Amino acid sequence: MATQEAPRAGVSFETDEETSLILSSLEEFLEREVEPLEDDLGETWSNPRKRHEDDGRLVPEVREAIETVRRRSAEAGFYAMNLPEEVGGEGVSNVTWYRAIKHVAATGPGLSEYVLAGPEGPKPLLAQAEGEQVERYLEPCVRGEKSTAFAQTEPGVGSDSPNMSTTAERDTAEQSSTSPASTEATQDGDEWVLNGHKQWITNAPYADFVQVFARTSPVEEMGRYGGITCFIVEADEYEVASLNNAVGMTGMQGEIVLDDVRLSDDRVLGTEDGAFYDAMEFLSLGRLEIGARALGHTEFLIDRGVDYATEREAFGRPIGKFQGVSHKLARARADAFAADAAALRLAWLMDGGEQAIEESSIVKYLATNVMFDVADDVVQVHGGDGLSEDNPFMEELQTARILRIVEGTDEIQLNTIAKELGVM
Ligand SMILES: Cc1cc2nc3c(=O)[nH]c(=O)nc-3n(C[C@H](O)[C@H](O)[C@H](O)COP(=O)(O)OP(=O)(O)OC[C@H]3O[C@@H](n4cnc5c(N)ncnc54)[C@H](O)[C@@H]3O)c2cc1C
Repeated sequence: MATQEAPRAGVSFETDEETSLILSSLEEFLEREVEPLEDDLGETWSNPRKRHEDDGRLVPEVREAIETVRRRSAEAGFYAMNLPEEVGGEGVSNVTWYRAIKHVAATGPGLSEYVLAGPEGPKPLLAQAEGEQVERYLEPCVRGEKSTAFAQTEPGVGSDSPNMSTTAERDTAEQSSTSPASTEATQDGDEWVLNGHKQWITNAPYADFVQVFARTSPVEEMGRYGGITCFIVEADEYEVASLNNAVGMTGMQGEIVLDDVRLSDDRVLGTEDGAFYDAMEFLSLGRLEIGARALGHTEFLIDRGVDYATEREAFGRPIGKFQGVSHKLARARADAFAADAAALRLAWLMDGGEQAIEESSIVKYLATNVMFDVADDVVQVHGGDGLSEDNPFMEELQTARILRIVEGTDEIQLNTIAKELGVM
């Protein structure tokens, strides 16, 4: 497979042979393993309103199907193929990973969304697992047997996440010996005590464990970005207080409450007090992944728009013959082409070891806005059919709206670009 060590000799927009093979194997996988699951689910899948219980949670059959997709994809070597081979991945390059995500997303909304690791799967942050963490959390996640979540956002902070109020304090044996309430700490040695609320956490309602960011040292001592540590918190250690049902993604996000959660040192993931810096190292990857999804969906939307514009007739001719329709699709194609080139360039820079912070903001901003504009135009091209529940276009428009907010809002991306320009 195209590896991360591949030399960055020159820019090539050709899909190399190994990547082509991965893309065609993915197509076969979708046909053989994913589509039958959707067929078996029938209306429970095809009608988004039937996918959920009254409280918004996904119904058990849908959850089971998602878990099956994840496990089978891992068995086939797709699920976490961008992670290094040492941790169970295939070590494919960022260019290949980008192309794979985009290729799968280009099949439109469906269970295919779960074929390649998303927020519920293993990410480079989790790949920092050490000691027993590897066997207990990382490996089962790479195999698709366990799922996780990444918890930074709180009711009071989202974009300004270093300003979080979730805390983790050490309850040392010394302290506890003077406090009868902390007998457990005396017996077990040092423990961390976590308190706080996180919200909008994708997969929190179903995760086996969550990676929770908490302030462990004050800003005055460690600075705004220092003093934050990531902890592994298991499902029976936190409470899902409510579901945050985003329109278009119902049932996936939850608010979690951490109430005096006591954890030993072996639950610290990565560097103590350095989790924010650890996460920043992988920021560009998250933005590339969102860009890939957005541009895959854009491709799907353009294809469907072109089909409809050629078939549907009004005033005695196909609607595509009207400039008001054809220009929408032509503009969509031009925007998608440019954003794809930008994303490939980002992936190539990352393969060369660059953090590419500015480029990743450009790609995340561009790709998600292109998808949003195209989804809106493709709804318009379909007229009334664009609004029908039987068609995926409004679902796509909602997804595009979500993608412009997660992993850094439009405004946060523009701030990054403006700072690079030196105007902010
Ligand atoms: C579907 C979904 C899934 C999510 N999944 C996760 C997850 O798995 N884990 C997780 O931790 N979080 C998750 N989030 C949270 C997401 O990351 C935040 O919603 C996002 O970062 C924005 O934060 P906020 O909602 O608090 O908005 P705010 O930060 O309060 O922003 C509100 C508005 O003010 C603007 N704004 C804020 N600061 C500035 C500034 N400096 N300059 C200009 N404009 C500014 C924003 O751009 C926005 O328009 C998810 C959210 C959604 C909707």
